[in-house]
Amino acid sequence: MLNQQREIVILGGGPSGAAVALGLKRIGYTHITMVSEARPFKAMEGISERVVEGLKGAGFQHALKTLPDPSPRYVTWNGESSQANTERLIDRVAFDQALMMDLAMQGIHVIQGRVNAVKSASFGHEILVESCEQPIELKADFLVEARGRAAPSAGLKRIRGAETVSLLQYWQGPEMERRSAAQSFESGWAWMAADEYGRRYLQLTFDVASANLPEKAKLVEHCNEFLTRLSEAQPFLQDAEPTGELHARTSTPILCEQACGENWIRVGDAAMSVDPLSGNGIFQTLSSSLQAPAVINTLLTRPDKSRLAQQFHQLRLTELFYRFARIGRDFYAMEDQWSDSPFWSKRAVWPDDKPLHLQVDISELEVTKRPVVNNDLVDLAEVVTTPDQPLGIWHLSGIKLAPVLQAYREADTQEVLVERLLNQGLEKRQVVMAMNWLRQQGAD
Ligand code: FAD
Repeated sequence: MLNQQREIVILGGGPSGAAVALGLKRIGYTHITMVSEARPFKAMEGISERVVEGLKGAGFQHALKTLPDPSPRYVTWNGESSQANTERLIDRVAFDQALMMDLAMQGIHVIQGRVNAVKSASFGHEILVESCEQPIELKADFLVEARGRAAPSAGLKRIRGAETVSLLQYWQGPEMERRSAAQSFESGWAWMAADEYGRRYLQLTFDVASANLPEKAKLVEHCNEFLTRLSEAQPFLQDAEPTGELHARTSTPILCEQACGENWIRVGDAAMSVDPLSGNGIFQTLSSSLQAPAVINTLLTRPDKSRLAQQFHQLRLTELFYRFARIGRDFYAMEDQWSDSPFWSKRAVWPDDKPLHLQVDISELEVTKRPVVNNDLVDLAEVVTTPDQPLGIWHLSGIKLAPVLQAYREADTQEVLVERLLNQGLEKRQVVMAMNWLRQQGAD
């Protein structure tokens, strides 16, 4: 059987599973099956322009059409109010349906159903799916686990941040301007969104251990006591009424310590999920999923590079996880009205006290071999690493940086450096870019 005809089954049709499906299709894989059931609750989420770029880069078209224009985001944090930013508020039900439409339009087999069991088999994996017609049994050479936070942990070791829960309520009121708002309070923070149809999504995030949440029947009342005291919540509550059931979502940051094996990979939230405070969930999900097709391609076609590909995936996930964890930590630390309360004190110091970015001296830059993606395969290449970029930078707009650094280290004068860069085959405009990059690293 040709490698590209190997059966690849993807479990979970959120942004991560869908991005992997399109990436594999682009590489040339022809036997891709997506199995997903619709997400079991309504949600509105905020995304940045980086996500829009990521979706375009991944090849989505229908999903992009569901995105509304950016709307204002109001924030009250550490007692200060601002309205500096915007975000696009997406309806996750419509967005996820459009993702599946994109897959179907590109000829990917989409099965709507619930994955009930996954078993290892001599050929790979056996998947049992409950669909509306009859149970389906699928066979896969390769399995992509993309069921988000609902993916079973499968006995894998995981690193967890402070246990966190977000309680989501739906309210309905008169039409209002599409907008979102966030506000901190002593035992957590609130995120609220409204669309022009008067739908409101009111989400309160608490620390599981210290929140003293009441029994389920009293949760709505409990949440409303907080909401009525928040200034940012007032426009969302005005003339509005709760509708539907409250929905609890776990929002603990989690990193899977082994997210890849020889014939399986975990992507998106199933591999690593970040605190929703960063507002980067879908962005990090896309970042980890865009690298996955090259990892899968390497595992299927170059067994000699299997370890390297697994290592690459894990290193990238870990780096991304800690980067977002530190962004969250710094944001929590900005709130110092209640720095002794369990909610804020835990989160302002996790995961560590390392700065988000390190000041780097050019003498600390090193040329090292690291795994990179090259022509849809993971391979070793010489990259430039810094204490701030331990995974290394290979290219800058098509310019390989390791030879640039080597030329800089060997040249006595600027003239010699320019000559060496030209001798490496760089065009004049690329020489200018390389010199700029060196200057940004502190070269004189
Ligand atoms: P998901 O989007 O979770 O997709 C998984 C898919 O698998 C779903 O369609 C699900 O129905 C399906 N599935 C699950 N189990 C099965 C099964 N057994 N059989 C078949 N299908 C199954 N991110 C942002 O960018 N902005 C935000 O404002 C934001 N707010 C958030 C608020 C909270 C409280 C939380 C918890 C997260 C938030 N996120 C936000 C994060 C964002 O939701 C996730 O990072 C993103 O959806 C992960 O994508 P995914 O494809 O990995 O998983």
